[in-house]
Amino acid sequence: MLILTDIEGTTSAIAFVKDTLFPFAEAALDGFLDARGAEPEVAAILAEVPGPDPRATLRDWMARDVKATPLKSLQGLIWRAGFEDGRLRGHLWPDVAPCLSAWHAAGHGLAVFSSGSVEAQRLLFGHSVAGDLRPLFRGFFDTRTGPKRDAAAYAAIAAALAEAPAGMLFLSDVAEELDAAAAAGLRTCQLVRAEDGTQPSGRHPEAADFPAVARRFGLPLPPG
Ligand SMILES: [Mg+2]
Repeated sequence: MLILTDIEGTTSAIAFVKDTLFPFAEAALDGFLDARGAEPEVAAILAEVPGPDPRATLRDWMARDVKATPLKSLQGLIWRAGFEDGRLRGHLWPDVAPCLSAWHAAGHGLAVFSSGSVEAQRLLFGHSVAGDLRPLFRGFFDTRTGPKRDAAAYAAIAAALAEAPAGMLFLSDVAEELDAAAAAGLRTCQLVRAEDGTQPSGRHPEAADFPAVARRFGLPLPPG
């Protein structure tokens, strides 16, 4: 079986982005611009920020959670620096890495489908609380492949991985994403994590954590 997994609310706390990543970027903004504002990649982003004082505009966007492209680009660079120098670690619920490792060791394929960019996915799993998990995965997919609530995205992922949809299991906390995966022929399981306050939809098999997924779908459990 190939297990395709969502990140936020499935492998990782929904609050990680809001409570860790966004405040980190806000706190690190001035130091990052002081150190690297003259680098061509950073200067090009700053040139896209309107107003007489780009820092003031960026701070205003952050305060109001404006999804402006220059801000998203800059946050991506700040997060990359933070992951690479160890100030940030990608959150995973403690049950996740042992199960992913056990499933991989037993020959099951693993892949990620998240609305976060593929680069952000690779940073989170490459610098996770459980170490570098990137070698476990056969593929990383984001919304460039298609919207998560669109069945065509799951068909495209199956094709990209050369897997039959019926041989794939999609894990997510969001019922509408699972509906789309089921419409494409994938098996589905809703992660209903109490810590994230997930509400069960009643439309898909449910599991409170990854060991519960393993028991439900006949996947191996971690040793011990
Ligand atoms: Mg999710």
